[in-house]
Amino acid sequence: MNMEFADRVGRVEPSATLAISNLSSELEAEGIDVVDLSVGEPDFPTPDNIIQAGKDAMDAGHTGYTSSNGIPALKDALAEKLNGQGIDANSDEIIVTPGGKQGLYEAINTLIDNDDEVVLLDPAWVSYEAMVKLAGGSLNRVDLSPYDFQLEPGLDDLAEAVSDETELLVVNSPSNPTGAVYADAALEGVRDLAVEHDFAVISDEIYERITYGVEQTSLGSLDGMADRTITLNGFSKAFSMTGWRLGYIHAPQPLIDEASKLHSHSVSCAVNFVQHAGLEALSERTDNSVAEMREAFRERRDMLAELFADHGVDVPVGDGAFYMMIPVGDSEAQSASSASGDQPRADDQQWCETAIQEAHVATVPGSAFGAPGYARISYAASEERLREAVERLAEHDLL
Ligand code: PMP
Repeated sequence: MNMEFADRVGRVEPSATLAISNLSSELEAEGIDVVDLSVGEPDFPTPDNIIQAGKDAMDAGHTGYTSSNGIPALKDALAEKLNGQGIDANSDEIIVTPGGKQGLYEAINTLIDNDDEVVLLDPAWVSYEAMVKLAGGSLNRVDLSPYDFQLEPGLDDLAEAVSDETELLVVNSPSNPTGAVYADAALEGVRDLAVEHDFAVISDEIYERITYGVEQTSLGSLDGMADRTITLNGFSKAFSMTGWRLGYIHAPQPLIDEASKLHSHSVSCAVNFVQHAGLEALSERTDNSVAEMREAFRERRDMLAELFADHGVDVPVGDGAFYMMIPVGDSEAQSASSASGDQPRADDQQWCETAIQEAHVATVPGSAFGAPGYARISYAASEERLREAVERLAEHDLL
């Protein structure tokens, strides 16, 4: 049969990060040792107490469906956590989802109709664009690359981009792929624009617990933001639980009521025993593990920044998450072309291809995130492997 596919799937490409990991697995299958810095997941095991809680929950028979939006104990614990961040939350305003990604999907599909305008801050995580396109929305992108990926100096650009036509802005702090943690003044600037033009904001706070020496502020805690913010978070990054698939959204009740329909008709609920494990993850018993992972990431970040500096590469270092965007294009050509309003040279794809094929270091081209001229590296890898990666890149004249 000659199947005709829906327009919506034709509008998107497969995930660029997954394409790189696939290539990396193929090379490894040929016996090649690849330093894979393309993946966005912590390289630590899930803390023992969480694993035990998952096993106990299975043994206790928590293997059936749960109420669609999540088990009450977990929703209560999440509401309490959000209240601690200054967000006025109650447990009915939460949907527990199989991964933060599903929460984002539900939020975007609840808000965005054909041609509705969604503003992204570039570089932006790859799935925002894909989900907006699937929903039929139109994208309006604000480039923060000229400001070392910080939002505050880019507020004027954002102010120019948004209008009363804007339906939704997506903010991700700490950011994937830059590691930037936005200052309070920047978030207040976002709030002012959101109130002025009456648009909603998704605040993706999935890297909230991975910050170095700074505190991340929740947008939903700012005056004026309570009735327009969708707070998205998950367990994957903070607790090294990527494969468990657990996340959540908090939003004003009317949005949750609508999104619940999508949720119940698609996934029914998040996995029962995983929700019990999530409850344990939120307890103080996990705090030490979280702190240890955070400290390891911080040391690696500092080490990497130094190694790149030794090779004359000046990397904008963020205060959170576990990513860095390294400049890989011809920076002079790039800034010259940016100044003239042209697109920067997009040779990052070529660079990443050489890096993986010849130096056997897997990274993700910045253009996948709307930032040509950079490559994203994840430093969720051991110090030894990170050193090895920098050495290999240097040996192949890629730095
Ligand atoms: N937001 C951002 C910025 C991410 O990087 C990711 C994971 N790569 C997610 C959301 C979703 O993560 P998960 O579905 O594993 O919770």
